[in-house]
Parts: sequence; structure tokens; C-alpha cells
Amino acid sequence: MKEQSFIPPSRMLMGPGPSDVSARVLEAMARPTIGHLDPQFISMMDEIKKLLQYTFITSNELTFAVSAPGMAGMECCFANLVEENDKVIICKNGFFGERMKENVERFGGIPVMVNDDWGKKIDLNKVEECLKENPDTKIVAFVHAETSTGALSDPKSLTELAHNYNCLSIVDTVTGLAGVPLKVDEWNIDAIYSGTQKCLSASPGLSPISFSEAAKEKIMSRKSKVKSWFLDLNLIMSYWEGEGGRSYHHTAPINALYGLHEALLILKEIGIENSWKKHMDNHLLLRNGLEELGIEYLVKEEDRLPQLNSIFIPDGVDDLAARKRLLNDFNLEIGAGLGVLAGKIWRIGLMGQSSNKKNIEHCLDSIKQVI
Ligand SMILES: *Cc1c(COP(=O)(O)O)cnc(C)c1O
Repeated sequence: MKEQSFIPPSRMLMGPGPSDVSARVLEAMARPTIGHLDPQFISMMDEIKKLLQYTFITSNELTFAVSAPGMAGMECCFANLVEENDKVIICKNGFFGERMKENVERFGGIPVMVNDDWGKKIDLNKVEECLKENPDTKIVAFVHAETSTGALSDPKSLTELAHNYNCLSIVDTVTGLAGVPLKVDEWNIDAIYSGTQKCLSASPGLSPISFSEAAKEKIMSRKSKVKSWFLDLNLIMSYWEGEGGRSYHHTAPINALYGLHEALLILKEIGIENSWKKHMDNHLLLRNGLEELGIEYLVKEEDRLPQLNSIFIPDGVDDLAARKRLLNDFNLEIGAGLGVLAGKIWRIGLMGQSSNKKNIEHCLDSIKQVI
């Protein structure tokens, strides 16, 4: 067989990410590549920084997009903020807490786990107990929007708690950003990372990130070098922030950044608060339809993520066969359950561009036919 250009099928992306990317963003990405130190490209990077500050609702100077996916954003936070033997409390209520633990260990820190059941929000009382038992803790890390379960936790209270015990907070908002309320400055969050392929609806491969002054101070006063060259913020700062000329660090993923720029413009046109509202309104629409089909949610109502709906697979339905049919016959991608929830739940994403009435109707119709 002779290789040919790859023409992807036209799918409706309603899983845990990536979400549908609009034609406007795809067109932006198809524009000519220019040099990454071209003054015009650098002005676009400055605009991305401003647009990200708008999206995170922060005036943090150290706000930019890491040139790699959400996992690199996670690694960037831990690599820069954790030093040898630092104790880090990790609140684990799903899949991503385990990865935070791996990161802390690899950077020489000591992870202390606070576990909650998958599908539950993080319990503040348990975290406070753990902080009392471990007064030498330096950082509290947690996931804002647990994509593996569809549970929403409370970054404002968790960060307040961390600060009461002289800790910094690291927040994973890969799925949270633009989908649920998030106010980085007002909530005093210290380090936060996201991804481009969830509620921002840009292509995967970049990780928006932001650090408070307190986090920046900690990074600049490290006793040891950051154990990752690529993610060392001391080096990256001079690339993204370098006044009077940027120095070469790595070649930026230029066309992916065109796409992020366009996606952030679209978000700003909608308005960040309207984006949160859109996600909630569409979630309620989907929920009503699912309830009519007799389908139940994993997470209790007040802790549900509007952008990630985890539902129990109806009795007698073959998980794999049904999802295969959804993909092949209806061009619809939804997510499977992860870890302890594998084979038990489906995860329906309503993220960014995928969060709209047409998708919801198609999704409900298709599910009705396969169950
Ligand atoms: C998707 C996701 C990640 C990982 O992002 P990638 O872009 O796949 O590396 C991390 N945390 C959460 C909560 C996510 O949903």
C-alpha cells in the first residue's frame, strides 16, 4: 500500500478531551510559519500572555504557555517548586492525584496523600487534619476539575487552608479553565496549570500556566538547581518575559500558538463569565435528556462538573461495543471510565466548542440508539 495524505474522519468530540476545534482556530493554525524570534511573533506571544491573564483572571507576570501538553504543566509546577525532602500534601480523588505523587517523588520531595473516594470532591477537613499532623509541609496540591470522575473541588478554600499552614498551593485546572469559575488572584492561588484541548478548544500540546509572586520568590530562592532543564522557569522566564530582546531557549511551536491565540480571542469575545454560564446551561440540557433515558450520574449534583458528565453505563450494555458503535456509526467520541471506574461509567465531555445544543442532541440521540 502506498502512503497517502492523512484525512481524518469528521468526529464529534465529546470525551474528556480533546474537544472540537473550530474552523477559525484551524485556519489560524494553517497560516504561514514565521521565525520564533521575529518581532511580529513576539508581539503575538505578548498578546497570548495578556489573554491568558484575562482567562485565569490574574495579573501574575509569570503567565505563559508551556510548549508541551497539560502533563508538562504539572511537571513544570512540581519541578520548580519542590526541593529535596520537601513535604507535599497531595489530595487524591481520582486519576491525576497519582501522577502528582509520581512527580513529587521524582523531584526528591516527600508526598503525603490525602485520599477521597473517586467521584467525591476533596474533603477540607481531611486536608486540615493532615496539615496539623504534618506541620513541616511546604505545598498542598490538588485537582480543581477531576476529569477522571467529573467532580469539582474548591480551590479557594483549599488554597486558604494551605496558606493558613504556611504552604503554597499547586492547582491542576486542565479541565477547569474556562469551564467553571476560577479566579486566580482573588483566590490567591500560587501555581496553576491548564491545557489547550479541553475548555479552550485549541489543539492539544500546550499548557497555560501561571505563578504568583510568592511562588516566583520560592523558585528564585531555591537552594538547588531545578532538576529539569527544559522546564526550569529561571531559564524560561527570560524567553517569555525577556525585556529588551528574547534569548533562545527552544523553538516555540509556532503554529500551535497561532491556534491558542485565536482560541483565546474567541473566549474573550464570548467573555469568561459567559463561558462558565454556557458550560452550566448546556450541562443542564444534557442532564435533562439523560435523565429522561433513565441514566444516572456518578457525582452528586452540587459537586458535578458541567464540562465532564460521568454517568453509569446502563445495566446490560456492553461498554466497549456501545462506544465502538457510537464512534463508527455516529462519529461520536465519548470517554471510557478510568481506573476503578473502568467498565462502570462513561464520561461525556461538554467542553468549549463541543458544548452546544447540536452536539447535545446528537449525543442523546446516538446514546438512545446504542443502549
Ligand atoms: C487532560 C488532563 C491532564 C493532562 O493533560 P494532557 O494535555 O493530556 O497532558 C491533566 N490533568 C487533568 C485534570 C486533565 O484532565
